[in-house]
Amino acid sequence: MDFSLSDDQLEFQAHCRKFADEVIRPAADKYDREQAVPWEVIKEARAWGLHGIEHLYKMGSDPGGLLGVIYAEELHRGCAGIALAISASSLAAAGIAASGTPEQVGRWIPECYGEGDEIKMAAYAVTEAGAGSDVKSLRTTAKLDGEEWVLNGTKVFISNGGIADVNVVVATVDPELGHRGQASFIVPKGTPGLSQGKKEDKIGIRASQTTEIVLEEVRVPMDHLLGGKEKLDRKLERARRGERGGSSGALATFEVTRPFVGASALGIARAAYEWTLDHLDGRRDENGA
Ligand SMILES: Cc1cc2nc3c(=O)[nH]c(=O)nc-3n(C[C@H](O)[C@H](O)[C@H](O)COP(=O)(O)OP(=O)(O)OC[C@H]3O[C@@H](n4cnc5c(N)ncnc54)[C@H](O)[C@@H]3O)c2cc1C
Repeated sequence: MDFSLSDDQLEFQAHCRKFADEVIRPAADKYDREQAVPWEVIKEARAWGLHGIEHLYKMGSDPGGLLGVIYAEELHRGCAGIALAISASSLAAAGIAASGTPEQVGRWIPECYGEGDEIKMAAYAVTEAGAGSDVKSLRTTAKLDGEEWVLNGTKVFISNGGIADVNVVVATVDPELGHRGQASFIVPKGTPGLSQGKKEDKIGIRASQTTEIVLEEVRVPMDHLLGGKEKLDRKLERARRGERGGSSGALATFEVTRPFVGASALGIARAAYEWTLDHLDGRRDENGA
């Protein structure tokens, strides 16, 4: 089997590497030190065709799926924090694509990025203090009240928490059913009851903002339930009857996005390796510059 990259993939890899070397690296120290959102670098990524809805279409239209991992590896080699700040909205977009109706996909995915020069952000909020890997144990609740869903709970470690224009929140509708009792909801910025909790002071990936998200009696309309009520009711019914099937939106989203996390780790490892070689060759001073 031939694992070599095609000419198009090599060209894309070179483009990402150039962006990492010429735009990300020179800005990395500042944003890492200040632990600030690198808005200017994100705007540059948009200008280079590496952020936004068109970039997402390009990644999605690659049948082998390699462009996404090339992108993740090269940008994370530049700086993991800036790379995650540029790409974290795609986790929310993947969550919408995994669970949303075609209308919801068309309405909300563009809102995750903004258009033209406008930069928007999105957050995918699954993790809780007692539910990290163990996604089935989420305690954030979603209860139907008339034509509105009412959400309560606290999410932790959320990338783009507090700055996201669109939050995709995974909550439990029926805790007895584990992950099959969960659903995903769109919670737009500014919705009453939605607030940013503690901002994490991290030792790495510092240019990407990671915070708690607090939901207190947050009300969203019926059409903010991804996939719609009928589909959710059918899923809950099947689960209550003990039938198989009925996927978890959160697990499906993680399945799609985990290869990018692996590629990101590879990019970070490559940067460390290259830095070490340079250091041993005496090409870096004692401050690492
Ligand atoms: C920088 C950063 C950004 C993040 N961004 C987001 C985000 O945008 N949205 C979001 O929802 N979450 C986000 N997270 C949270 C992340 O998804 C969780 O940290 C992850 O799911 C692991 O959960 P945990 O931290 O509770 O660890 P745990 O689940 O407690 O795991 C701790 C360790 O135990 C191991 N372990 C767990 N269960 C088992 C088992 N059954 N058997 C054997 N070993 C096990 C794990 O592999 C791990 O090594 C982010 C985290 C970080 C650090």
